[in-house]
Amino acid sequence: MTGKHHRRAAANQATIRDVNEGIERGQWPGEGDTPVGFRCECARLGCNRLIELSVHEYEEIRANPRRFVLIPGHEFPDIEAVIETRPGYIIVEKRDAAEVAEEHDRRG
Ligand SMILES: [Zn+2]
Repeated sequence: MTGKHHRRAAANQATIRDVNEGIERGQWPGEGDTPVGFRCECARLGCNRLIELSVHEYEEIRANPRRFVLIPGHEFPDIEAVIETRPGYIIVEKRDAAEVAEEHDRRG
């Protein structure tokens, strides 16, 4: 990927995370263990695949802000490392989130 693509990908992932946080907040108390359709948080522009996991699982993953939940095979090994493979999805961790965020700030 080029630097331009990295910046667009970072912005795209931030948007998807907002969507998923809305999904998470929309669940009723007590539904924490019910599978919910979260958006794939990969860096592929236009990806709108859904991943089924419970709110509890999602909260556990995003307790670390550098971790994202993806469809298997949607990771970009040059910017993120696969931490864990689970049935139906994988967990990745950004290699250097600080640098990506800096580039995002300089945009425009
Ligand atoms: Zn994806």
